[in-house]
Amino acid sequence: MNKPGKRFIAGAVCPQCQEMDRIVMYREDNDEYRECVSCGFKEKQVFKQHQRELDTRVNQTEESVRAETQVLNFPPINNADKK
Ligand SMILES: [Zn+2]
Repeated sequence: MNKPGKRFIAGAVCPQCQEMDRIVMYREDNDEYRECVSCGFKEKQVFKQHQRELDTRVNQTEESVRAETQVLNFPPINNADKK
């Protein structure tokens, strides 16, 4: 039986066999691993202790996009110098 929590990474390309959507991620003892189900490639993921951030990053991305938009919409300060 497969270990629970094993999940495919959509769009991930295996660095070894270049196959797409063959990479699974799973946690083992506090560490996360990437593994290719096609060629057997396996790599330990090095993260900080806040592994939960991986799941919340989707929401954070939306906020950072909004933040970038705010920057873009910010009126140029140079307007004050125009006479
Ligand atoms: Zn592979």
